Parts: sequence; structure tokens; C-alpha cells
Amino acid sequence: SKTKTFHSLRPPINLPPQHLPLTVTAYALSLQATSPWPRDSVALIDSATGQKITYSDLIRRMNSLAFYLRTVIKLSKGDTAFVLSTNSVEVPILYFALLSIGVVVTPANPLSTESEISRQVELSNPVIAFALNSTAHKLPKLRFGTILIDSPEFNSAMQTKPWFNQETYRVEVYQSDLAAIMYSSGTTGRVKAVMLTHRNLTSVITGYYSVKEETRTASVVLYTVPLFHTYGFIYVFKSVALSETVVVMGRFDVKKMLKAVEDFRVQRLATAPPLVVALVKGVVTKDFDLSSLEWVVSGGAPLGKDAIAAFTEKFPNVLLAQGYGLTETAGGAFGFVGREACRRWGSVGKLAAYCEAKIVDPDTGEALPPCKQGELWLKGPSIMKGYAADPESTAATLVADGWLRTGDLCYVDGEGFMFVVDRLKELIKYKGYQVAPVELEQLLQSHPQISDAAVIPYPDEEAGQIPMAFVVRQPQSSLSEAEIMDFVAKKVAPYKKIRRVAFINSIPKNPAGKILRKELRKIATPAGTSS
Ligand code: AMP
Repeated sequence: SKTKTFHSLRPPINLPPQHLPLTVTAYALSLQATSPWPRDSVALIDSATGQKITYSDLIRRMNSLAFYLRTVIKLSKGDTAFVLSTNSVEVPILYFALLSIGVVVTPANPLSTESEISRQVELSNPVIAFALNSTAHKLPKLRFGTILIDSPEFNSAMQTKPWFNQETYRVEVYQSDLAAIMYSSGTTGRVKAVMLTHRNLTSVITGYYSVKEETRTASVVLYTVPLFHTYGFIYVFKSVALSETVVVMGRFDVKKMLKAVEDFRVQRLATAPPLVVALVKGVVTKDFDLSSLEWVVSGGAPLGKDAIAAFTEKFPNVLLAQGYGLTETAGGAFGFVGREACRRWGSVGKLAAYCEAKIVDPDTGEALPPCKQGELWLKGPSIMKGYAADPESTAATLVADGWLRTGDLCYVDGEGFMFVVDRLKELIKYKGYQVAPVELEQLLQSHPQISDAAVIPYPDEEAGQIPMAFVVRQPQSSLSEAEIMDFVAKKVAPYKKIRRVAFINSIPKNPAGKILRKELRKIATPAGTSS
């Protein structure tokens, strides 16, 4: 089966020597220092206020904050910090500061409910939290309490004179040390805490750095993706390494985004399929000057061919490229460089330099040749350390020889371009957010008038997929669709809401009791428009 391993077609890269103590912060900044632009070029722009933070500002604030966290708060290497915030220019500075002193960052969706957060906290075991005035109440009491990011205290911590100095405090952080714990639903549905090391992150950044294009000025990029998700998280470090200017948007709004593209002459957008669809269908774009746009990258969920075609027709001068990755791979494992994207519509690109891949027949376990569909397995220095406090899921996902089972049904064509066919695992992706059917099923099943339930993804143009429930009511029950949706909505974060309900006499299952979701999908979308 060795011959069936796909190796990267990108030029080989050199990762930093494995045993060198090195934080991802120090590494990204060392790459930034190689940039031809001066350190007073802009690192971050707050899209709402227009506030600009230069690279020297960023470094100063990060060092002040690290000093404060180390000496006043007394955080030490190996401590874990929970972050519950919407996107803001402070969030990257916080990530950089925490990671520079070896504190593990664990960012969560600020829309999470209290019970979701308490489960996450149970898995990651943080000693401190960083939250907003509006999100702090959802956090449990932690050893060092909660620091508000939108407070004068935090602001002045970024402004203090004395700087943190690695030598003075003798914090030696190794690449094998934990850097981040990201929450993912993984393959079996329950929330999982993905452990990523500094090495995992530096290898992905090295990959991006190695394929960077020579530009005459620093590229201006705007992320529509959240910084608590691996996509936004890794992009922050990538952008610093490449000395890009990042436009940060708080609460996302398409019109405000278009205005920001116009105002700050944004060249690159990092986004997800719902925004691509919105740009071609949902919003009037002609009122904005989008002539600066050169590149749009879409990742995190499948992007339909229709959307790609419509986008290309509407914006002929903008390259639309997909990227593919998982939380478990610290982000991008496949992607495009330069104009490659035009060559393979619908593909998610070529394998990154630091990865190896296999397409494995899910039934026989055999590695398959090009153009054959099977489960994608990945290997390399970006693959997670495992799931925190969950050896069972770790063993099921990280298998022999360090291979990661992605749970995605894929194929690689003769030229090395990868295509995602469907998800073997059962996640629903609502606007790029993971929704685990099992969690919603268990919730539904807890209702006294529901005897059984199954949840599947239902295709939706705007959201990609919405959670749809098949419900078996108790005899005599007259529970309505609206009552069911309402029942769930009260108990979960908004993105997990059930948005469609169908009643059924029994849930189809296999002899082992596993729900036959494929059958339910057929009932839900009889025309075969499976998602
Ligand atoms: P997450 O851990 O939230 O990043 O989710 C990872 C999953 O998102 C992958 O296993 C895929 O199922 C899906 N995914 C990510 N990128 C793409 C893409 N470009 N096309 C299709 N599915 C994708």
C-alpha cells in the first residue's frame, strides 16, 4: 500500500529543527522580520473604527501584555486560557501574548451556551478566561478568574512599559508543547477538544510561507471567518508570517464587509461558502468599489459548482480558490497557489508540502489509486496530538503510523487535485459551524412526547446545510413542528437550531442500531439533491 500514498507535489520545505525551543509567536514574528516592508507597515485594521496597528505596535502590545500576564496575573507555561470573544484586533494580540509565554489558548464560540461551555471547560481545564462584558456571565469560576478584553484593565496591560523578556523569565517552550485546544465535533458527534502543538502550527505556517507570492506591497486581507475556529486562528499567524495587513471585522455583516473592501482596498478575502453565495446572489455589490479584490479563498465546507460558476461570471478578475482542512490538521491541508485555481473547478487544491495523503477504501481498508473514491487519510507534522481527555476518540481517529482519518469521502485526480465528494462522518455544517446530529438527537429524545428522532443535514442555499429532524411522536401526541423547533432552540446555541422537521413512523436503522442517514436524506430530498 506504500505505493498508493500521495506525496505533495509542492517543493519540499524545511521546518525549524524539531528540538529547538520555539513558540509559534516567535516563529511567525521571525518570518515577518524577513519581509521587505518596514516594521511600521500595518498589521491590523479595525474595520469599524479604522484604527490601525502597525507591526511594531503589535509587538509592543503583545510584549506588554505577556509581561502583565506573567508577572501580575502569574500565568505560567502549561496553563490553559479560555477565550470567549467575537473577532477584534485585541484577539490576535492576546493569542500572540499567551503563546509567547507557553500558555495554551483555547478559544470557543462566543455564542456557546453555558452547558456547552462547561463541557468544553471540563475537557480543557483552563485556569483563566478572557471574555467580553457580554459573554463573561456564561463562564464558570476559574482559578485566576476572568479578564475582560473590552476593559480598561486589558487596554492598559497592552500599554505598560516593561516588556516581557523570555530570558529574564526563563520560559522555555518546546515545539512539542501544547499551543492550542480547539473544539470540534469530530467524527462521532460529541464535542472534542483538539490538541495542537506549537510544531503543528509552525508546520502549517511554514507551508504558507513557502508558497507566498512576491508582491510589491503588503497584501491587505480580510477574514470573514471567526478567530476562534482553526481557519481564522491559523490565518492570523500565517498573515503575520507573511507580513500581511489584516482587516478585522467584529460582528459580521455583508454590507459592512463590502464597505471595508472599498475603504481599505482589500485584495484577499478568507471566507466560507455562504459568503460566496451571498456575493453572487444575496447582496447588491454594484454600489461598492471592489476593484482591489484579487483573490477569494473559500474553505470549511463544500462550495457548489453553480456558485463557483456564478461567482466567476460576476467577478471575472477575481480568482476564487478553495482550501480544505480540519481542526485536527491545524487548518489547510489542501489548497491552491497562484492561478492553479482556474484549472480545476470544484477541487480543493493540491496537498500541502508538509502532508502525505491516502485514499482508503472504507470497507476493505485498502489504499486506492488516483481517481478512486475513498476516505481521505492524512499524515505529517500538522496532525493534532489527539483529543484532550478522550483516548477512545483519539484511538479511533489517529490510527497506525500516525495517520489521521478525516471521515471525508474524497478522490485525487491524475494531476494531484483533490475533490471532496461527501462526508463519511455525520456532521452538519451550518454556515461553516459544526453541528453534531447526535447531540440534537439526544436532546429531542429527551422530550417526553418524542419517542425517537434522527437529525440530518438538509441542503440550504444560504447556510450550506441546515439541521433537519425526523421525529417519531409518542402515540396520541400532537406535538407540532414549531413546538419541536422551539424546544431545541431554547437549549442550544443559535447555529445548532433545528430548522426543519418531518414526522415519520420509525427511524430506519441498521442491525447494529445505527441510524441509516442516507435513507433519511433520500426521503428529505427525493430529487437526489443530496448535500
Ligand atoms: P473543521 O474541523 O470545523 O474545520 O471541519 C472539518 C471538516 O470540514 C472536514 O472534515 C470536511 O468535512 C469539511 N471541509 C473543510 N473544508 C472543506 C471544503 N473545501 N470542501 C468540503 N468540505 C470541507
